[in-house]
Amino acid sequence: MLNRAQRRSNKYKRARGMAAVNSDNRAHNRLLTYLVQEDQERLLQFLEPVELEYKRPLYDADERIEFVHFIESGVGSLVCAMADGRAAEVGTVGNEGVIGLPVLLGDDRAPSSMYVQVPGRGLRMRARAFREQLEQSPRMRAVMLRYTHVFFNQIAQTAACAHFHSLEQRCCRWLLMTRDRMPSDTFLLTHEFLAMMLGVRRAGVSVAAGGLQRAGLIRYHRGRITILDRKGLEGRACECYAVAKAEFDRLLGFVGARRRNAERL
Ligand SMILES: [Zn+2]
Repeated sequence: MLNRAQRRSNKYKRARGMAAVNSDNRAHNRLLTYLVQEDQERLLQFLEPVELEYKRPLYDADERIEFVHFIESGVGSLVCAMADGRAAEVGTVGNEGVIGLPVLLGDDRAPSSMYVQVPGRGLRMRARAFREQLEQSPRMRAVMLRYTHVFFNQIAQTAACAHFHSLEQRCCRWLLMTRDRMPSDTFLLTHEFLAMMLGVRRAGVSVAAGGLQRAGLIRYHRGRITILDRKGLEGRACECYAVAKAEFDRLLGFVGARRRNAERL
């Protein structure tokens, strides 16, 4: 007779076998791979695969957060909406993080929303189960809190970036951040969404994207972006891309290195 955890684990493996691009039954979320084997296996019992379609809500403003998501490919956007309907992206999460930080911090909702801006796939688990797992493992909580710090820094950097840096610089930064989280140089991105992310009108995006296209750095056709020259984009991006990346490496890079060393022993 299988116990509840084993049944869950088998359900997960069956579902993964069907849904996974890589049928290796391993999580492709970097934060999950940073957990020690024991924590990772315990968490996998509760995780189920989920397709992340464009604009799928991951949680809504002021609504109870039902699921915590670990993105494997694609990007989720933290969006702050104003009373007049305008909205701006204030942070992004990809395969380096977890979506549902209010749950980690002891709450069950937030005044901002999170939804999918670049389609992909991921894993999700019930918020309640996630909270229970955090209580069981101080090591897992420590990794998740480090990521929370990374995300907080990213939001702070984004706020300063919007004040001081040009639309083209921000556009380059955003494209580089997204490329880091995707399995290939080509990904889906509508004009409308890019405008919202950068907090500008669509015409502004056309000017910035057109300039990058003419410079041979990207190709943009019918909502599909291809990065042609990564080094060139890095050269035109503002300092914020490198700052956020360095913060991630400082706070979580060593966790990954420690895990890889442990595996080699
Ligand atoms: Zn910047």
